[in-house]
Amino acid sequence: MAQLSDDCFAFGGALMPVDEAMAIVTQRLAAVDGIERVSLHEADNRVLAHALEAPVPLPLFMNSAVDGYAIASTDLPQEAPRSYAISQRVTAGAVAAPLAQGTVARIFTGAPMPDGADTVFMQEDVELNGDHVILPPGLKPRANMRPAGEDIAQGALALPAGTRLRPQHVALAAALGLTHVDVRRRIKVAVFSTGNEVVAPSEARTSAQLYDSNRYMLSALLRRLGCEVSDLGILRDERAALSAGLKQAAQNHDLILTSGGVSTGEEDHVRSAVEAAGSLVLWRMAIKPGRPVAMGVIDGTPFIGLPGNPVASFVTFAYVVRPAVLALSGARVDKPVALPVHANFSYKKKKGRREYVRASLMVLENGTRGVQKFPREGAGLLSSLCETDGLVELADDCEGVKPGDAVAFIAYPSLF
Ligand code: AMP
Ligand code: MG
Repeated sequence: MAQLSDDCFAFGGALMPVDEAMAIVTQRLAAVDGIERVSLHEADNRVLAHALEAPVPLPLFMNSAVDGYAIASTDLPQEAPRSYAISQRVTAGAVAAPLAQGTVARIFTGAPMPDGADTVFMQEDVELNGDHVILPPGLKPRANMRPAGEDIAQGALALPAGTRLRPQHVALAAALGLTHVDVRRRIKVAVFSTGNEVVAPSEARTSAQLYDSNRYMLSALLRRLGCEVSDLGILRDERAALSAGLKQAAQNHDLILTSGGVSTGEEDHVRSAVEAAGSLVLWRMAIKPGRPVAMGVIDGTPFIGLPGNPVASFVTFAYVVRPAVLALSGARVDKPVALPVHANFSYKKKKGRREYVRASLMVLENGTRGVQKFPREGAGLLSSLCETDGLVELADDCEGVKPGDAVAFIAYPSLF
């Protein structure tokens, strides 16, 4: 496990800006050790351990992009249509003979270009005349042909280290002739919920208790980010039990994540339990929904304590836990993609903090893309996350939104 110093999340300011939180987490957390070789069938959503240089060019050889007739560009008809003998027929997968001078080759999509040919007429553009073909003037040299290496040159960087492999990256590795790639080991994350008011779904419940939803949400988010998750259940608001649970989890995990119990209320025990087990700083985040996020180190293992309100937990996960997980996983830490759209709502906002407004995509009357704000704002409303498409990000210095304003929209899938 990576060993962190106890004071690595120290922060001097009053309110922690979101960008600064992301920067601190990204800089202070190093990738865990451990690389494994996996087959391409198991490579999706893993993190590439080493840069991948192309051992071969892509395409591997010059080939035709269409069904048609291959010719040397030096032989192209100049002013008037011209008739050429068809000297060979090259199908996909067949090896071509060199092109006889002054002739053309019948060729099909993906078939290798005969030596000497560098241009292809589409079959729709020619006239057949027995074993000859009449070609019109005006075609550009090297048209309708895919040169070797036009996609990726041999030896070029195909995929940088730290790439989170997606289906398209797996395809690229296969196209380069690889069957396996080296990836970082999955990081191990322990997830707890806290609070005397929280019980597991299906457990007996008093009239004052609610079912734990955060643990399921956070575990699912972590798995989508490629983590191995240990579900360590619900810890009661008791300092000794919490402390012992945290210390134990620190021994065989790369990150410990909890939700609830980190506000500054006198019944919030996570804080004192982490302090007893290791060290802790409370980041008063300049973010809504969100606010307090506890950052700690327990026996060298990072600890993040998210707020208990489900929406606050979700949003702070995206801007604190996600970069932490990517950094520990050896992945490049990217910002969630924000796309410009027009607001179809009014909203007042306080300066000096970042706000994330739950919103649904829609088409405006003028046909452009807009977003509509979810009608209610509570940080406990799970329906608000289920019935919307993403978050509108309002910059720290923004003071509000009027209908028609350009705003940044972040679709939920780009948060995990
Ligand atoms: P706290 O951060 O402990 O002050 O909790 C804020 C709110 O989130 C309270 O209403 C808690 O009951 C609720 N909450 C805390 N933990 C969970 C959880 N695991 N699942 C759902 N709600 C929770
Ligand atoms: Mg609580």
